[in-house]
Amino acid sequence: MEFCPSCGNMLGYEKPNLGHPSRLCCPTCPYVCNIESMVKIKRKQALVRKKIEPVITLDDMNNGPKTEVPCPRCSHGEATFTQVQIRSADEPATIFYSCLNDKCNHIWRED
Ligand SMILES: [Zn+2]
Ligand SMILES: [Zn+2]
Repeated sequence: MEFCPSCGNMLGYEKPNLGHPSRLCCPTCPYVCNIESMVKIKRKQALVRKKIEPVITLDDMNNGPKTEVPCPRCSHGEATFTQVQIRSADEPATIFYSCLNDKCNHIWRED
């Protein structure tokens, strides 16, 4: 069973047609996958190492300590911050700020 990589829905099977070989297609978005080429694609994907990016949720941010720093988007003067270790443990943590303006909620990282 295969799932759509862009929206996560179960892919439906489409019989071979004049225009195309048998394929899987997503019922809700334009994603189509030719069954013949699928094996190759999968093998290729396995070789690509995904970069691990830190995942910050808004909850993490909102529970963080407050600081007085201007938001680059709305220039609100107060934000919460969270430290995230992005690379190896040897390197300093990156600080992410979250704007405390309810209408903005902009998240940015310190350079
Ligand atoms: Zn889809
Ligand atoms: Zn803001």
